[in-house]
Amino acid sequence: MTTTRQRTDATQRVWNALQDVTDPEIPDISVVELGIIQRVEATDDTATIDMCPTFAGCPALDYMRDDIRKHVTAAGFDHVRVNIVFDPPWTTDRITDEGRRKLKAFGLAPPTKCSGGPVTEAIIRDVACPFCDSHDTTLESIFGPTLCRAIHYCNACRQSFEQFKPVE
Ligand SMILES: [Zn+2]
Repeated sequence: MTTTRQRTDATQRVWNALQDVTDPEIPDISVVELGIIQRVEATDDTATIDMCPTFAGCPALDYMRDDIRKHVTAAGFDHVRVNIVFDPPWTTDRITDEGRRKLKAFGLAPPTKCSGGPVTEAIIRDVACPFCDSHDTTLESIFGPTLCRAIHYCNACRQSFEQFKPVE
């Protein structure tokens, strides 16, 4: 991959360290797979990471920021700076395919891709069950246990499940 080859070794080391930083609410998915790492710059002992918050006011943000700092420091960088950037805003479309697979394995329906369009109620309602892939599902509550999640019920396998809500 050209992009990988163009990165300096130091930058690549930071990306590798970031693969181990996970969202506390979804233990398996890394911040890279979530698509919230905007930019990484690194020299011998200094690393700068720009990350964008997923959901405004997400309580996990401070935790993830500290965790990023910890992991990158452990990768051999003495000076680690984590900036929170809001532009361009994060959207659920930035979650990688691997990230989506992990969400599903976790029993959490991946967000529907909105391809830049607005998130309509129809988009939120049309979701496949992460357990049996049926689209015969009903939206039960638009607010799950966290702001980021909606609760659905699968009429096919009769289980309720959470969906990582799409965000435009
Ligand atoms: Zn089902």
